[in-house]
Amino acid sequence: MLIEGIDDSVILVTLILGVFITYLMFKYLKNSLLTVGQLDPRLHQDSINDVNQTRERLMNNRRNREETQEGQNTAINCPICLANSNFPIETNCGHKFCADCIVQYWSHSSTTAYRMNCPMCRQQVNYLLRLYTREEQERNRDLNGETFAQIANYNRRFGGEPRDLLDYIYDIPILFRHLLNELFSFDGLSIWYRVRIMFFIMVAFCYFLSPLDIIPEALFGIFGLIDDLFVVFIIVIYVCTIYRQLITNRG
Ligand SMILES: [Zn+2]
Ligand SMILES: [Zn+2]
Repeated sequence: MLIEGIDDSVILVTLILGVFITYLMFKYLKNSLLTVGQLDPRLHQDSINDVNQTRERLMNNRRNREETQEGQNTAINCPICLANSNFPIETNCGHKFCADCIVQYWSHSSTTAYRMNCPMCRQQVNYLLRLYTREEQERNRDLNGETFAQIANYNRRFGGEPRDLLDYIYDIPILFRHLLNELFSFDGLSIWYRVRIMFFIMVAFCYFLSPLDIIPEALFGIFGLIDDLFVVFIIVIYVCTIYRQLITNRG
């Protein structure tokens, strides 16, 4: 025994869990820090050509039609068109673009049969998560219908594709954030999804608080929390799986 009174396996599990969580946090933070420099969008070297060509095409298209003000988000600057984001989309790597821009970029940078790489960090884009409401989408369907359809199309084709387990785990922080956003907003999730997700979050919460445990805190102190964290972790993964299904199925 390394520490008196505590089993070595418990120490090992804690260490592994600790390293893993630190790694995920680091990865997540790195991405959000990179997006802070809004005025200086750090495009990846390999994407610069594609982005420039997409931008040129977008500028020509936009000059020809009146821009709708709705859906515009002044807090987000799109690194492709360099303007306020129109119907902003967030990728699974945490980068934000206009819906229109990212769809154009997708069709330009690769054939639409393939997943695209993020113009900022070159990570594979598995989901395009919308940062606008369903209501806004419905109201603007006649103007931007084609773009919305392409976003849904992308998620349907690539969101549900089998991937590495690690890949799924990387996506959890961002999926969970979007899930919570939708859970507490009035549009978005249907009642059935809301009830299911709330139920599992409640279960996690109850297990965490209840004295009934596989490893009770009273006997093992801080190490008694391992099983609680584990149960919460599993439930978060499960809830994200439900949410992922929803994203890949909706229009
Ligand atoms: Zn844009
Ligand atoms: Zn990215």
